[in-house]
Amino acid sequence: MNQTISAKVPFSTANVGKCMCPKCSVQSKSKCVGGKLAKIKEALAKSPMNREEIPGIYCSTGMATCSDIDAKQPCICGSCAVFSEYNLGTAKPAGYYCRDGMAK
Ligand code: SF4
Ligand code: SF4
Repeated sequence: MNQTISAKVPFSTANVGKCMCPKCSVQSKSKCVGGKLAKIKEALAKSPMNREEIPGIYCSTGMATCSDIDAKQPCICGSCAVFSEYNLGTAKPAGYYCRDGMAK
């Protein structure tokens, strides 16, 4: 399957490992995200990974494929190592990638 990935942030297992999205309250009540997290080991073992199976790293892969997220909760991307490593504070959008799409 073709996947469009941000030119700024590589969709790598290393970056998925640093991503804070699984700890974010925007996603914490999502049953859809919970289901994906329950199968995350298998998803991470695939090469290439399938963005629909990884509920995070939206700065790289774009908007969440789960629709039951709560974007009224605070985005915690600012506390993420990927965010500082790729200087995402100067990119657009600068957070809420799950809602607004990948960093450009
Ligand atoms: S900046 Fe946000 S979306 Fe990107 S890896 Fe970090 S927590 Fe995940
Ligand atoms: S992109 Fe930001 S708001 Fe969305 S789940 Fe990740 S940390 Fe939370």
